[in-house]
Amino acid sequence: MDNPKCIVCGNIQNLKFELKHKVYQCASCNLYSSDADFDLTFQSSLEEDSREIGLKKLRLHNFGLIIKALKEKYFKGKQTIKGLEIGCGNGWWLEVCRDNSIDCKGIEPERTFEEYYKQNKLNVTMGFYPNPATDLAEGYDFIIFNDVFEHIPDLNSLLLSIKKDLKKDGLLIINIPMSNGFFYRAATALYYLKIKSFLDRLWQFNFHSPHINYFNPKNLPTYLSNYGFKLRENFRLETLDFSSIKERIMADSKISKAKAYTLSSFLTVLKPVIKNSSADIRVFFFRQ
Ligand SMILES: [Zn+2]
Repeated sequence: MDNPKCIVCGNIQNLKFELKHKVYQCASCNLYSSDADFDLTFQSSLEEDSREIGLKKLRLHNFGLIIKALKEKYFKGKQTIKGLEIGCGNGWWLEVCRDNSIDCKGIEPERTFEEYYKQNKLNVTMGFYPNPATDLAEGYDFIIFNDVFEHIPDLNSLLLSIKKDLKKDGLLIINIPMSNGFFYRAATALYYLKIKSFLDRLWQFNFHSPHINYFNPKNLPTYLSNYGFKLRENFRLETLDFSSIKERIMADSKISKAKAYTLSSFLTVLKPVIKNSSADIRVFFFRQ
C-alpha cells in the first residue's frame, strides 16, 4: 500500500509505527492515520461487564460537562433542543440527555445494545449514518460524536452529510482522544523501547473497530474548517476514574490479571503527573 495522504493538509504521511496495523504521520500537521479497517462482523474482544463498571462514572461526569455547556451557553433558554448522536453505543449519552430534557436521537450499526434501547425506550435507529430514518426536516440543533469520530474511515462524505442534517447555526460536537495527551506520548516512548502493546491498545487494534485517525487540538479544527465549521471552544475531559481503574484495565482480555493490577497501581502513583499533562480526551464545539 502507498503511504496515505493527510486528510488535513494533503501531504503524504510517513510511516511512523509498525503495530498490528501500520500508522502514518503527517510531518506538517502531525495527524496520525492507520491502515486499519472497520470490521463489520463486530467480533469484539471486550468484556462488556467489566467495561461498564470502569467507564460509566467517568463518562457520566464528562457528559455532565457537555450538557452544562449546551444548556447554559449554546442553547440557553431554548424550549426544545433536538440532537443526533452518531454511534450511540451503550446509550448513556441518550439517557443523560433525557434526564436533562434534551431530545436526542441515536443511530448505531452494532446490535449489542438493541434490546437495551428497547427496554429503556431510547430513540435509536439501527444502521449506518447517513440513514433516511434519522432525517429531520428542520435540521438538528446539534450532532454529537462520543468516541466515534476517530473510528470513521470516510470522514469526507460523513461531514458533507452532517452539513445537510445540521441547522444553519447548528452545533457539531466531537468528543475525541488526543495524540498530544499523556497516554499517547507515554505509549510512544514505550514503543521505542520495543513495547508495542500500549500503542496497539490506544489505537484499539485488538477491537473490532480500531481508530483510523488520531487528531490533536490544532489539526482537528484545521480539518473541520475545510468544511466551513468554526471552532467555538474546546475543553479537557477526564480519561481516568482512579477509583475504578483496575476494572477498566481488566476489561481488556489481552492483559493478564496480574499485569492489570501492576498497571493500575502504577497509574495511581502517576495521578498528579497525568492530571497536569495535556488532556488525553477533549471535546470540541463547532458552529457550521
Ligand atoms: Zn497534515
